Amino acid sequence: MNRICAMITLLGTAALLAACDAPAGKAGADDFKYTIDSFADLKVMRYQIPDWENLSLQQKEYAYHLAEAAKYGRDILWDQNCKENLRVRHAVETILETEGIETENADYQSFLVYAKRLFFSNGMHHHYAEDKFFPACPREYFALLLEKAGIQDEELLEIIYNPEIYPQRRSTETSGDLVKLSAVNFYEGVTREEVEKYYAALVDPSDPHPVSWGLNTKVVKGADGIIRELPWKIGGIYSPALEKICEELVKAQTVAENDIQQRALGILIEYYQTGDLKKWDEFNIEWVKDTLGTVDFINGFIEDYNDPLGRKASWEGYVNIKDFEASKRTETLSANAQWFEDNSPVDPRFKKATVKGISAKVINAVCLSGDSYPSTPIGINLPNADWIRKEHGSKSVTIANITHTYDYAAQELPTSTLAEFAFSKKEIERYKKWGTVADEIHTDLHECLGHGSGQLLPGVSTTAMGEYASALEEARADLFGLYYTADPKMVELGIMPDPEAYKAEYDNYIRNGLMVQFTRVELGRPNTEAHMQNRKLIAEWCLEKGAKDKVIEKKVRNGKTYFVVNDYAKLRALFAELLAEIQRIKSEGDYEAGKNLIETYAVHIDPALHKEVLERFKALNLKPYGGFVNPEIVPVVKDGQVVDYKPVYTDDYLGQMLLYGKKYGTL
Ligand SMILES: [Zn+2]
Repeated sequence: MNRICAMITLLGTAALLAACDAPAGKAGADDFKYTIDSFADLKVMRYQIPDWENLSLQQKEYAYHLAEAAKYGRDILWDQNCKENLRVRHAVETILETEGIETENADYQSFLVYAKRLFFSNGMHHHYAEDKFFPACPREYFALLLEKAGIQDEELLEIIYNPEIYPQRRSTETSGDLVKLSAVNFYEGVTREEVEKYYAALVDPSDPHPVSWGLNTKVVKGADGIIRELPWKIGGIYSPALEKICEELVKAQTVAENDIQQRALGILIEYYQTGDLKKWDEFNIEWVKDTLGTVDFINGFIEDYNDPLGRKASWEGYVNIKDFEASKRTETLSANAQWFEDNSPVDPRFKKATVKGISAKVINAVCLSGDSYPSTPIGINLPNADWIRKEHGSKSVTIANITHTYDYAAQELPTSTLAEFAFSKKEIERYKKWGTVADEIHTDLHECLGHGSGQLLPGVSTTAMGEYASALEEARADLFGLYYTADPKMVELGIMPDPEAYKAEYDNYIRNGLMVQFTRVELGRPNTEAHMQNRKLIAEWCLEKGAKDKVIEKKVRNGKTYFVVNDYAKLRALFAELLAEIQRIKSEGDYEAGKNLIETYAVHIDPALHKEVLERFKALNLKPYGGFVNPEIVPVVKDGQVVDYKPVYTDDYLGQMLLYGKKYGTL
């Protein structure tokens, strides 16, 4: 169940923008520097917390303890990503803190880049591509560093340098055993078949309220040949981290904003103590109810992207505060949810008679941790359990300060993908004028309404789409958003500022789906990530279906390829047609049709175009991926009393990583 829409921004809002005027009254006016570090294919930014000063002391204290709880979970993710990750990190930390090592040479600088990449990825595998990466310095040099740091570990260099050991975090091999081939630390000594059998015996398909079987456990086969689940709980695996998390959650409980938060935290603590998945569901039901608080959080084993079998969840922590001004926009969308459902271009049989439980708000991040740190989503929709979403609703948020930081950081740069890949001045001007807001509104529609829209026909399984489910679901939500960004209703509701603004999003989406996003795929590799597949599917399908009317036209100028939208109304009609079809596929559980769409339009990248895109992008000297350091929330003590909590904005990426290792290292 993929609900978190990480990465939407990378080439949507973020990397495409440059040299555009900062939104009024926001950054750009001050000297705050957003990009603080940059290496390999990554850049690290820092975000500000707007309106922090307006919180009461109690709210600040609540957010502070939730942030501490979030940071204490960091090591869990490292160990989940691969069981050797913490061992490697501890060695790297020790080297970085060893005095007397000569640093002004190329080998050390290569080691430093490796260390920074390691921290960024929470382990030895690229955070996005999931392939293992290697230090550029020679193995003998690394051995020397280990020696200087007093580390005696014969296996370490082999783990770091041998490409055969843990080659991929989550394997993308199409043949072989995904469970055995993946580096993730979710299974040990078991085959895919054994795991699937094990869970098939547990799961009762007729249970209307199933727990998320396997969400918080490691599956192992003992010497006795029996397959068991070892829970991640206090007294079980990850106990030291979970104990510290709970200590902070207890403190947070005493300063919570309301009874619901207090109750929810109590249940969460019980869940960590027992590992009981019923408690996890109970917690989520309570957590969904809290729509009134200003401070909110995510803390737990949340998303199952990293498990090749889609069951085990990665640990994640997130603390945020509501952005009241911007939330008005999404509240308006939610209030009109039924209108959008009724007027969507899908077959009435596939529409929900009543759309309920959509609570949407705009938030600002206060602390990112685990699976959300340093790389983080810009929109989140939780909880993941389908029946809870259906019966109790879900919370859907967009994260304003993260999105804005991407924009501001891009503006600090001299070159931009927008100028490179947009065909005309008019297109560039329009994007500068409306791009940010139109893109935000598209994200709002995607998160608040898109995922929640539509229904399955009776008897159709929620897992009918198999391995194509995520990409198709993202496409459905994106198409819902694309269709409605152009609707006059959006202007009427006061959300879209101008009837022409949506065109900026259409241009952007097509450019991105057909070209720009491939800057993040290695030449010769297929397009495999769900969100990227969804965008390619939509853009390619519209290019083909609109070819005879030249709805989207491929143009070549000075040897450079461009895709230009000629007819926005017809493009919108194509979005509507594809939305209707993908909704039909999902509602009817038409696996073959879903597979066919993905395999025809989403996977294969034209090698000549891919090469061109990579070369043009390389010449811009931009980084395809971004991540963030957190502000440190520091208690201000006066006469022995905490009188305030202040965010301190660090500009030292490595410093924060080393600090977290020391202060929040638990495993
Ligand atoms: Zn999504």
